[in-house]
Amino acid sequence: MANDPDSSHAALAPALPPTASPRIGLVSLGCPKALVDSERIITQLRAEGYAISPDYAGADAVIVNTCGFLDSARTESLEAIGEALHENGKVIVTGCLGAEADVIRGAHPAVLAITGPHQYEAVMEAVRAHAPRRADPFIDLIPEHGFKLTPRHYAYLKISEGCNNRCSFCIIPSMRGDLVSRPANAVLREAEKLVNAGVKELLVISQDTSAYGVDIRYAESQWRGRPLRARFYDLAEALGDLGVWVRLHYVYPYPHVDDVIPLMAAGKILPYLDIPFQHAAPRVLKAMRRPANQDRVLERIHRWRQICPDLTIRSSFIVGFPGETDADFETLLDFLEAADIDRAGCFKYENVTGAVSRDLPDHVEEHVKAERYGAFMERATELAEAQSRRKIGKTLDVLIDAIDAETGDAIGRSFADAPEIDGSVRIMGRSGIKVGDLTRAMITDAEGYDLVADERPKGLSGVMKRRKILFGRR
Ligand code: SF4
Repeated sequence: MANDPDSSHAALAPALPPTASPRIGLVSLGCPKALVDSERIITQLRAEGYAISPDYAGADAVIVNTCGFLDSARTESLEAIGEALHENGKVIVTGCLGAEADVIRGAHPAVLAITGPHQYEAVMEAVRAHAPRRADPFIDLIPEHGFKLTPRHYAYLKISEGCNNRCSFCIIPSMRGDLVSRPANAVLREAEKLVNAGVKELLVISQDTSAYGVDIRYAESQWRGRPLRARFYDLAEALGDLGVWVRLHYVYPYPHVDDVIPLMAAGKILPYLDIPFQHAAPRVLKAMRRPANQDRVLERIHRWRQICPDLTIRSSFIVGFPGETDADFETLLDFLEAADIDRAGCFKYENVTGAVSRDLPDHVEEHVKAERYGAFMERATELAEAQSRRKIGKTLDVLIDAIDAETGDAIGRSFADAPEIDGSVRIMGRSGIKVGDLTRAMITDAEGYDLVADERPKGLSGVMKRRKILFGRR
């Protein structure tokens, strides 16, 4: 599905154990799908004995994994290439923007090589050509699960590449091609290795997760001595058997999504669906070239919530799409409320180069887009806050992401929060808890999207609260 602006990364890969081999820097931009590509490139680099440089100065060459989904992302990618050229000089470009080599060459003629998204072998060829590795009789050891750019306790699991849809605002299919699903047993093998390495949460990603297996006609493969179909439900069920949190991202509201809701109600996978609805007004959805029967979608969501009352729905929407009227925008706000969307992200429509929607009539003025964006976020925040307040008094499982160095509070997430894009749970007054722990906590307060589990003795929590207010006034 479309990239969510909240989920972009721009990071130099961390240093890995030193060797005498050439050192390669990697700048990773874009969504979790691009992050998985970066992880595969790092895994292959280490498999071939390259070291990873955490900075430009120490690198023999730098790979920039670009994003090209929106014009703003393209600009950021071109800037990152420019920075790498300036700081290091030997730059190999890959990723979504790599599909437009002429744009990159036009801005930065000095780049060494350009490859498109998920062309791992072509990236490696460029690395071998421009930073050849000396023969080394010692084979560098690689973790069986490959190298991850996420913390040790969660990992993105990419189940397919490309997309068969043709949404009019999106250029991903032209960059990444049609849907190519991985065999079910390959996905499960990777997931099992990750779990064995300590991962407690698997985030299933693709461009369109619910379309998984359509291109390979749901082919069977052998998993744990039995045939397993490359089907959305079968995959979700088998992943649920691994005994860790399984979170589904980028799901289209197709009828067969109904099938996984009982798995959520039974606790096999997390009751969380990330469905990028993009809009709710039928004429806008039609112009977007997306399914346009919102009444059915609403019915479906209500049925899902009857089966699984804890279900959390995250979605992203576009405001200011060409032709969107005030009435269409009101329909969108009404939908947010009627569907009780728990976490809603929003982008202002961008006129992406190469997108079909560029040629649509009645483009919306920027100030109108900005107003609608503000009104949307206000409504979305109200809904999220109401959701948060409903959790006060409940005891939830919480996966710990960090310990606040100043306060000692543990910061984690419940089933309703995906990393980086959703809210958090702050556990106060508990010692002996560490990153990666899965624990239980009773929610005592809610602040916007975030929850608080205050376990400090009553008197102390009162004193701390007063102090917080005083500090706030300074
Ligand atoms: S074409 Fe539509 S479904 Fe496919 S990646 Fe783009 S926005 Fe997502």
